[in-house]
Amino acid sequence: MSTPAEPLRLLLLADEPEWAALLRERLKPLGDAAVLLTAPNWAAVDSLFSHDRQAVVLATPALQPAAGRCELPTILLLDHEPAATPTGVSDWLVRGQLTSDALRRSLRHVRERGVLVATLQRLAEQDPLTGIANRQGFQALLTARLAENDGRGLALGHLDLDNFRHVNDALGHQGGDRLILQVVSRLKKELEASDQLARLGSDEFALLIDTRRDPNRAEWIAERIVEALAEPYWIDGESLLLGCSLGIAHARTQGGADPLMWHAHIAMRQAKGVQGCTFHVFNERINRNARSLADLESELRRALRRDELELHYQPRLNLADGRIVGLEALVRWRHAERGLLPPSEFVPLAEQSGLIVPLGYWVISRALRDMQALRERGLAPLHMAVNLSFRQFQDSQLLATLSRLIIEHGVDARWLEFELTETAVMRRNELVRQTMDALGRLGVRFSLDDFGTGFSSFVHLNSLPITLLKVDRSFVAEMEMREENRKLVHAMINLAHNLNLEVVAEGVETPEQMALLREFGCDQVQGFLVSKPLPVGELIEYLVQASGLELAAAF
Ligand code: C2E
Ligand code: MG
Ligand code: MG
Repeated sequence: MSTPAEPLRLLLLADEPEWAALLRERLKPLGDAAVLLTAPNWAAVDSLFSHDRQAVVLATPALQPAAGRCELPTILLLDHEPAATPTGVSDWLVRGQLTSDALRRSLRHVRERGVLVATLQRLAEQDPLTGIANRQGFQALLTARLAENDGRGLALGHLDLDNFRHVNDALGHQGGDRLILQVVSRLKKELEASDQLARLGSDEFALLIDTRRDPNRAEWIAERIVEALAEPYWIDGESLLLGCSLGIAHARTQGGADPLMWHAHIAMRQAKGVQGCTFHVFNERINRNARSLADLESELRRALRRDELELHYQPRLNLADGRIVGLEALVRWRHAERGLLPPSEFVPLAEQSGLIVPLGYWVISRALRDMQALRERGLAPLHMAVNLSFRQFQDSQLLATLSRLIIEHGVDARWLEFELTETAVMRRNELVRQTMDALGRLGVRFSLDDFGTGFSSFVHLNSLPITLLKVDRSFVAEMEMREENRKLVHAMINLAHNLNLEVVAEGVETPEQMALLREFGCDQVQGFLVSKPLPVGELIEYLVQASGLELAAAF
């Protein structure tokens, strides 16, 4: 047995009292199925019934709500047949033809239309894969929730999955879809009915968190979510790890939806700097920072277009014969106001924003072009090392673009070397490995940069096509002072040799350090003692002078 339906509420807005009497009369056959409520004006209806999905407005032209102001189905009550079809209403009735049947038909018609509109609206506001709200739906939800309580007791989370594109590339879109479903189900587990979840884009989610009971609830949930998402996912019998970045912003009174979304986004971008699954809570201080970050990002974009970047090359010395055997290309930004900026000022930002991909291509082409210039000066070929960020491997065009650039510049790929940091290669990423193998087949070599600062697993190290290990300068720096550092560097050199890797010590600044490194059997050194990174013109002079000289003897 079905429960009796709630009566249909008819809200009458009429400037003539006869309408109420006429309608009551005509509604009699409907019995309890409908109730007629008269309202003095539109504002009264709006405040009481605008969220009432079960109501229908009946209005005479003088009191008809303005177009677009009323979400409820509206029937216009006319004294005479209209000359043209009335707009902005669901239907109309003419006094002389208003029978009970006509009224009933009209009500059914507008309600069916209402259901249809609601269904269409739901579809337009729903993500088809997960069934949760999409971006459009979320915006509506957020606006409504902010209005409800003037923004009090609400926090917004912006979640972004790291490297989701890899998953799609590796598992196909179906695999990617299954992963998204798993993510959504983990997120739902951490949320309650008064919270809301939405999918803003392929790998982006928004969370509305109810903090009325507990002002710290958003942080608690964020903690649980990053933990839950860090657990391995199982797709087609394979386990898979995924990083994520979650930004949290607390709504402020009268803050509005846009600033809140922007703040959560900024916090998410701050979390992106950290590996694995992390969250970050927005605060004003970070905001000031982030504003300048956003400025810097667009400036950097412009710098790239206007060719304001430069490469400086730092020579690498072979200890056995005292010759310069290689160069490392290090990028700088010649900023119009701030002068020459080191990579630490902009490379991390470029990595975060993805700009590192075009920037990286610029670096490689410039390095290849300068290799040609050195050759044209009659200088002996040198290994050219270029730093490569993990983020660059995420570009599906990496292999094709690199191959093209190498061919275009007519450079023998065997002289090209890419420096990867431990953190990049230790992600055990299949894509990284495949790209490295493919580039290796072209003859390109790889070195492990800043060795000692990450968490290399030696077993894994040995399985990657790496030929050179660069001991981080922090270990070299304190070698003279600290016995412990000396031992460490010595051990690293032995370890590299046991793995059949060559060793370069970075940041060598003093003759004492050089002497120790020689004693430990280190193969090459790089550092201010040999030379600072030099612009290409100065580098050529330096190399011309150095050629034929046994530099090592000079130290
Ligand atoms: P890195 O690859 O370890 O580069 C070596 C850094 O040590 C360079 O800093 C170099 O100037 C500095 N250095 C060399 N010898 C000495 C020394 O004797 N003493 C001291 N104190 N420092 C020395 P730089 O040029 O500021 O580069 C910093 C980092 O930025 C690089 O570290 C590299 O990780 C990154 N980087 C530079 N160029 C690029 C690039 O084109 N792409 C990417 N992805 N990263 C880059
Ligand atoms: Mg390097
Ligand atoms: Mg390094």
